[in-house]
Amino acid sequence: MGNPPAEPRVHPEPEAAASDLDASLQYVKGVGPQRARLLERLGLRTVRDALNAFPREYQDRRGLTAFHTLRVGAVGVVGGTVFGVASPPRGRPRAPLQVTFRDGSGYFTGLWFGQPYLAQVFKRGQRVVLYGKVTMRDRRPVMQSPDFEVLDADELLSIHMGRIVPVYPLTEGLTQRPMRSLLHRIVEGFARHAPDAIPDDLRHRRGLPPAGDAYRAIHFPESLEAAETARRRFVFEDFFVLQLGLALRRRRQAVETGHVIAPPGALVARLVADLPFDLTAAQRRVWQEIRADLARPVPMNRLLQGDVGSGKTIVAVMALLTAVEAGYQAVLMAPTEILAEQHLATLRAAIQPLGITPALLTSGQKGRERSSARAAARSGTASIVVGTHALIQEGVELQRLGLAVVDEQHRFGVLQRASVRAKGQHPDVLVMTATPIPRTLALTLYGDLDLSVLDELPPRRQRIATAWRGEAKRGEIYDFVRRQLGQARQAYVVCPLIEETEASDLRAATEMAEHLASDVFPKHRVGLIHGRMGFEAKEATMRAFKAGEIAVLVATTVIEVGIDVPNATVMLIEHAERFGLAQLHQLRGRVGRGADRSHCILLASGPLSDEARRRLQTMCDTQDGFRIAEADLEIRGPGEFFGTRQSGLPEFRAANLLSDGRLLEEARREALIVVERDPGLQLPEHRALREAMLARWRERLELASIG
Ligand code: ADP
Ligand code: MG
Repeated sequence: MGNPPAEPRVHPEPEAAASDLDASLQYVKGVGPQRARLLERLGLRTVRDALNAFPREYQDRRGLTAFHTLRVGAVGVVGGTVFGVASPPRGRPRAPLQVTFRDGSGYFTGLWFGQPYLAQVFKRGQRVVLYGKVTMRDRRPVMQSPDFEVLDADELLSIHMGRIVPVYPLTEGLTQRPMRSLLHRIVEGFARHAPDAIPDDLRHRRGLPPAGDAYRAIHFPESLEAAETARRRFVFEDFFVLQLGLALRRRRQAVETGHVIAPPGALVARLVADLPFDLTAAQRRVWQEIRADLARPVPMNRLLQGDVGSGKTIVAVMALLTAVEAGYQAVLMAPTEILAEQHLATLRAAIQPLGITPALLTSGQKGRERSSARAAARSGTASIVVGTHALIQEGVELQRLGLAVVDEQHRFGVLQRASVRAKGQHPDVLVMTATPIPRTLALTLYGDLDLSVLDELPPRRQRIATAWRGEAKRGEIYDFVRRQLGQARQAYVVCPLIEETEASDLRAATEMAEHLASDVFPKHRVGLIHGRMGFEAKEATMRAFKAGEIAVLVATTVIEVGIDVPNATVMLIEHAERFGLAQLHQLRGRVGRGADRSHCILLASGPLSDEARRRLQTMCDTQDGFRIAEADLEIRGPGEFFGTRQSGLPEFRAANLLSDGRLLEEARREALIVVERDPGLQLPEHRALREAMLARWRERLELASIG
C-alpha cells in the first residue's frame, strides 16, 4: 500500500512565510498570465498589493429579501436561481431581455435593455444575485438593468452571499465576482502573515485590531462597524508611519548646526518705519516666530502660509534683511521668471533706500550679465540673490548662504527643499505658499515643518465683486469694462490654456487681443502676454502694464501667480468653467490689490458639468481662500486636488483627508513619542515599523541614513 500521490501545490500553504507576500499574483490559484495583466492595470502585482487594495464599498447581502416581500421603491439585494430567459421578440429590438428568477418564496423578474448578449449569460438553474431598485412595470415588480452576479456552481457561495460583500475597483475585463474570490483566497492564505507595523503596546493602548484581523475585516467584514474599525486602523497606521518618517527627518535636521542669525535689527526697523502702511497683527506675530527661528542655532524649517494678498512678501523681505545684517547671503527663489523679476522689483523698492542692491539670476540672462551675476553671488558681493527655483537648484555658488526663502506659491512637496539644503551650508529655510491648505493637509505634507499662518488680510481690502455670466452678457460686460477703463483703471482678460494644442491657445489669445484692440476697446491700448513669449518681451509687457501704459492685458494663465498691479480692477476670465478653483482664486487675487473696488467676472459658456457649476458658485459665494480650498477638496477629492505624485501628496490606503484629521493628529503625537524613545528605531518591537517606514518613505524623505 503506497501513500496517495502528493497533491500539487496550487495554493499557498498555511506556513507560507511572510516573504510570500511579495510573490507575484500570477502564481496564486485562479490567476493566470491574462488575469495577472488585468490586475497589473490596477497596480496590483504582488500578494501584498492585493491585500492592500481595499474595497471601495460594501453590499449588505446578509439577509436577502424574499421575493414575495419585495416592495416597490426599495433598493436592495435579492438572490435566486434562473428559471427562464426570454429574449425580446423578433422585430422589437427595443424590448428588454426578461429573466425570471425563483427563490423559496416565489418568482421575480429582471429586465435588461439593449444587451441581447445577456441571453447567453443566464442559464437555467444558475444562482444569481441582483442588486438594484424595485420598480413597477406591466403591473408587476421588477428590477430594470440591475447589477448582477452569476455565482459559479463550484464556488463557495458563502463568499458572495449571506454576508456583507466587498465591492472592488475594477478595470475593463475584470468583474466583481472573480476579484472577490481572489481576494478571499488571498486574505485566507496570507492575512495572518502580514507584519504588524504598529507596535503591540501602542496597538493595545489605542484599541486597534492586529494587522491580520484588520485585513480580514476590511475585505470580508462581519459587520459594517467591524469594517470601519479596520479602516481606522489602516488610516492610523499610514499616518503614523508617515509622521514617523517626518519626525525622523526633522530630528536629523535638528542636530545639524545652523547659523545664529540675531543682529540688532536695524535694517528691519528702518524698513518698517518707511513702509506706507502698518503691519497687520498677523504679520507682526509671524515675524516674531520667524525671528526667533533665525536666532536659534538649529536650521529654521518653516512654512509661511497666507492667502493671496495677505502680505507674505514683506515678511520675507524682513527675514532677508535680517540675514544680511548678520553678515550672511540670502536667496529668494520664485517658481517663474516673471515672479522672480517682480520680487526683484519689490525688493529694490524696499531695500535700495537701505543701501542694498539685490542681484537677479535667471536663465533668460545671457553672456556678461549672467557671468557677472554669478560672480557676485559667488564672491558674496551680492548679499541678496533673487532667482527661479530651477536656476538656483542648478548650482549657483554662494559664499555664505544663511537663509533661503522659497516662494512655492501653489506647488507642494517635501522634496523641493532638499536641494537647498544639499548646498551643505544648512541655511535657514522659509517656504511660502499662497494656497491655503487645510490644516490636516498642511500637517500631512509639511509635517516636518513649523507652520506660520497669515490669517488676516491688510485693511482697506474690499470684497471683490464676483459674478458668473453666460455668453449672452458679453456685450454688457464689455460696456462695464469700458467704463472702468474710462476711469483710468486697468483690466485683465484671461484665456485658458488648452493642454493639447499650445499653438491653438496662442491663436485664441492672440485673436482675442486683436479683437479687443480693434473692435471693443479701440480707445485703449491692449497688450498680450503668454507663456511662449521670450522673457524680455514678457518683462516689457508686464512693465508697461504696471506703468499703466497698457490698459487691458490679455493673458494666458502665466499671470496666475503673484503679479501685483494695484490699479487693475477688473479680472475677466474667459471659459471660466475650464479652470480649477485654486486657479480661479489665484487669478481673482490679481485684482483688489489697491484701494478701489474691484470686479471678477467669470464668463462660462456651453453645457456646464455639475462640478463646474459648483466651482463657479463657490467663487461667487466666498473669497476666503481656506473655504475655497476645502470646497475644492470636497469637489475633487484629495488626489485630484493636488494632482498626481509629483504634487508631493502621499498616497494612503484608506484615509479621507477631510474627515480623518483627528486620527492624523493623534498619529503625529504617537510618532513623536516613539522617536523620542527610540530615534534609530533599533528596539526589537520597532523592527516591523522600521521596515514599513523605510519601504514607504526611504526615498521620498531621504532617510537613507537610518536605513
Ligand atoms: P502675497 O501674500 O499674496 O504675496 P503681497 O506680499 O504681494 O501678498 O502683498 C499684497 C499687497 O499688499 C502688496 O501691494 C503689499 O504692498 C500690500 N501690503 C502688505 N502688507 C500690508 C499691510 N500690512 N497693510 C497694507 N498693505 C499691505
Ligand atoms: Mg506673493
